[in-house]
Amino acid sequence: MILRQLFDASSSSYSYLLVDGGEAVLIDPILEKVERDTALLAELGARLVYAIDTHVHADHVTGGGLLKERLGCRQVAPAVARVACADVHVSDGDTLRFGGVELRVLATPGHTAGCTSLYAPAGDHLAQVFTGDALLVRTCGRADFQGGDAGALYDSVVGKLFTLPDETVVYPAHDYRGFTATTIGEERRFNARLARRSREEFIELMAKLNLPMPKRIAEALPANMQCGCPDEVIAEVWP
Ligand code: FE
Repeated sequence: MILRQLFDASSSSYSYLLVDGGEAVLIDPILEKVERDTALLAELGARLVYAIDTHVHADHVTGGGLLKERLGCRQVAPAVARVACADVHVSDGDTLRFGGVELRVLATPGHTAGCTSLYAPAGDHLAQVFTGDALLVRTCGRADFQGGDAGALYDSVVGKLFTLPDETVVYPAHDYRGFTATTIGEERRFNARLARRSREEFIELMAKLNLPMPKRIAEALPANMQCGCPDEVIAEVWP
């Protein structure tokens, strides 16, 4: 399997292109990067099967709708997120197949109610988990809007993701400090918010963060609930 980690500097977001047997999935595509990602798919000779959003993003508009329009892929969203225009609504335990790979859906709510992670079992690579904004390198997503719930986030990360084997490679949806990936074992030991902290301590810590709202939230949330493809949104990016 080929894995490409793709970066969007304006939102410090990662998208992930996974290719196997000529078929591809793109995790957390970004509207402004559709041109880049479409060209890469063509160069790799891969057909995009699924554009997958791990959750309804507040800081950027998904590229899923435009990718579907251009490439005919199916758009995947967590069932809990109730994105009515998505083609596939996934829940915990579901699988998404492309090439010879079977991605497993893990419900990891807390950053938002609908957050999901995607697990790629070991093959010609170590096991990988794409954690969205649930687990980031040495930190985690905020839990103060969009159905966010710090207790649920603790249960998702400590109770679920941290039970994966230590060598599992973790690919986050964001990084603001230059990190690209980590492992479950590293995060169990060194995560600044979650390692060696009780559920109560974590909830207290998260309640005190006092973070500013994401810059693009007013635009991104409604656009993403419409699969990122209302004409006025696309017109702004592709005038
Ligand atoms: Fe997020």
